[in-house]
Amino acid sequence: MSHATATRFETHIGDPLSDSPPQPRAKLEEIFKDIQSDLRYDHELNGCLNCGICTATCPAAHYYDFSPREIVQLLWTENLEGIYDAMQEKIWACAQCYTCAARCPFGNSPGGLVMLMRETAIKHGMESAKSVLRPFSRVMLKLISTGNQLAPDMITRDHFPDWGPNISKVDAPLKLLRQAIPMPTLNTTVTAWEVNLKTSIELYTIWEETGVLKQLETIDENLFDVITDIMDEKREDWKDFLAEQEESKDD
Ligand code: SF4
Ligand code: SF4
Repeated sequence: MSHATATRFETHIGDPLSDSPPQPRAKLEEIFKDIQSDLRYDHELNGCLNCGICTATCPAAHYYDFSPREIVQLLWTENLEGIYDAMQEKIWACAQCYTCAARCPFGNSPGGLVMLMRETAIKHGMESAKSVLRPFSRVMLKLISTGNQLAPDMITRDHFPDWGPNISKVDAPLKLLRQAIPMPTLNTTVTAWEVNLKTSIELYTIWEETGVLKQLETIDENLFDVITDIMDEKREDWKDFLAEQEESKDD
């Protein structure tokens, strides 16, 4: 299913309920087109009964000024100014649990649509994306440079007191339990931090080819610089390693 670009707006549109500055109509259309042209869009949005089942089961809707029904309705009715407005704050409340997708009688995935809107917010360097992601720069540094955020033995009572009694499910003698995993590479709890050089190089290629690095540059240039320095260093190490291998063959 495809949706024609909306045409019912004035030259400058501003949601009267929002603090966000008015945006030119062309900008609103460009943003909507970016969301709509994603391959996943037609899969995630099939229509909407406005029944509210998604919102009734949404954990984020219980705690924030956020409603998956509203998000779906904005997209389904191509409400460009409402879509832009929701991207300034509301979309960042979603926990990406996909309860909504499991319940929607239309087979929609409001959580999936929120993800498309978030990616578009990042692509457009929206301030909302920058401020939401800013506190996670250390996490992003680790995630992008090693492919992992946490080593398994970091999940302990001390590090995650907010998990309450649930922490007991993971706070176990991991070193011992891991010995039972048939794959020898998983017998350790520290592999998350010791990434094989070749794996790192492949990971960096994936970040580049999928546009992750470009997105990072848009939202946090300093972090982008730090990470590209790390990548350059690892690539040099990899080249040296290959050269050493060649030399040892010749000997
Ligand atoms: S997205 Fe689905 S569950 Fe939510 S209001 Fe629309 S039809 Fe109902
Ligand atoms: S994925 Fe987001 S919108 Fe859907 S139920 Fe979970 S928190 Fe709510």
